[in-house]
Amino acid sequence: MISLTGISKTYATKTTTVHAVDQVDLHISKGNVFGIIGYSGAGKSTLVRLLNLLERPTTGEVLLDGVNLATLGKQALREERQKIGMIFQHFNLLWSRTVKENISFPLEVAKVPAAERKKRIEELIDLVGLRGRENNYPAQLSGGQKQRVGIARALANNPKVLLCDEATSALDPKTTDSILDLLTDINKKLNLTIVLITHEMHVIQKICHEVAVMSDGKIVEQGPVIDVFRRP
Ligand code: ADP
Ligand code: ADP
Repeated sequence: MISLTGISKTYATKTTTVHAVDQVDLHISKGNVFGIIGYSGAGKSTLVRLLNLLERPTTGEVLLDGVNLATLGKQALREERQKIGMIFQHFNLLWSRTVKENISFPLEVAKVPAAERKKRIEELIDLVGLRGRENNYPAQLSGGQKQRVGIARALANNPKVLLCDEATSALDPKTTDSILDLLTDINKKLNLTIVLITHEMHVIQKICHEVAVMSDGKIVEQGPVIDVFRRP
């Protein structure tokens, strides 16, 4: 589904060169729940920007669903980006729009006809468990409910991958669990590939099948969660 080969991202500053991501190989197969864990400064945010195609690697190759991104022009790359749904730590909702309108937004951008949009929004509301909250504004929702809106919005255009960037880091433990349960559900129901970037070990242990550990821009360990984080 996603394949990174020999990926590096280097930033040149006045005094030095930073290898934010350094020779990373990652292969994430369809239907996997894949975790990427590391401390602050490990290179996770840079890796997210490479995965969501917002940044071009200094070296290496990104394949998404078999398509080599280096071969694409601007328009094709924009279309490719729609295959990736994203959720964020601070939800990034539109505060002046209701739940329904937030979920509708990516559908409007993709020029989905109104009738189809309406049907899709209803499906998504049920999928994430927000029935009864459709006409609330984000300020009227709990953190967990806001993230449910984020998930519905990310899934609106049927992405091939859901990329979660510290998506539970702003939530309390109980709400975190309920969001992780929802992601597990979605992974099973839709066979959707999920990539989770986090600094929280328990998030990885709760829902990921495989994990890559990042440190200093490198992947220092990678494999099934039970092997990498075997409890004594
Ligand atoms: P994380 O998300 O794991 O905290 P980042 O990807 O933000 O890590 O950063 C990895 C390293 O790359 C850090 O040393 C950071 O200072 C550096 N870095 C990230 N983005 C830039 C940039 N635009 N310019 C220069 N250095 C950067
Ligand atoms: P520009 O260089 O003017 O930003 P490009 O057409 O080169 O425009 O790229 C548009 C965006 O797509 C860039 O921000 C870049 O980060 C991303 N991009 C381009 N090529 C690749 C690639 N091979 N892999 C990942 N991202 C890419």
